[in-house]
Amino acid sequence: VRQILLDMDGVIVDFVKGVCGLHGRTNPYLNGKNINEFGMDKIWGLSASDFWKDCGYEFWSSLEFSPEAESVISRVEECVGPENICLLTAPCATAGCIDGKREWVRKFMPAYSKRLLVGSSKEFLAAPGRLLIDDRNENVWSYVKASGPAFLFPRPWNDNHDLQGCWESELDSELGALKGELAY
Ligand SMILES: [Mg+2]
Repeated sequence: VRQILLDMDGVIVDFVKGVCGLHGRTNPYLNGKNINEFGMDKIWGLSASDFWKDCGYEFWSSLEFSPEAESVISRVEECVGPENICLLTAPCATAGCIDGKREWVRKFMPAYSKRLLVGSSKEFLAAPGRLLIDDRNENVWSYVKASGPAFLFPRPWNDNHDLQGCWESELDSELGALKGELAY
């Protein structure tokens, strides 16, 4: 079996842009000192509750696609077919989050409405031949530890930040490996 679990926020959904707008702040990753720091609450000196409190239905259902989304989606669909791809997203605790994410998928990726998985313990889905594409270091580490292949999508906030300029070729080589063209 060859399947792909595609993370939403930070991969195909522009969470950073949305949350900067919500808080009226500039993108902290334009500042080099924040490279490889995932927690924007920490960067901004906010408590987790202050950071997340307004991230409800309206917020999650109206986020924009990331600039890379179209290309990511076409590459993964080309590799395994859309029927073998699930969106996999971790919710925050704010009321309305999960419904907002479901609405986002219904509006912007309706073909995936029944292939949306919500949960934080992504490693429980780890299996050979099932590739996780995610932007959070810890998600990739725990998935790999549970014996699943994973691709850390290059972003300023993760260990692959130096690969941002060549994310297409990095992703293509992971997808090639998934198809068995290369050895894992
Ligand atoms: Mg993510």
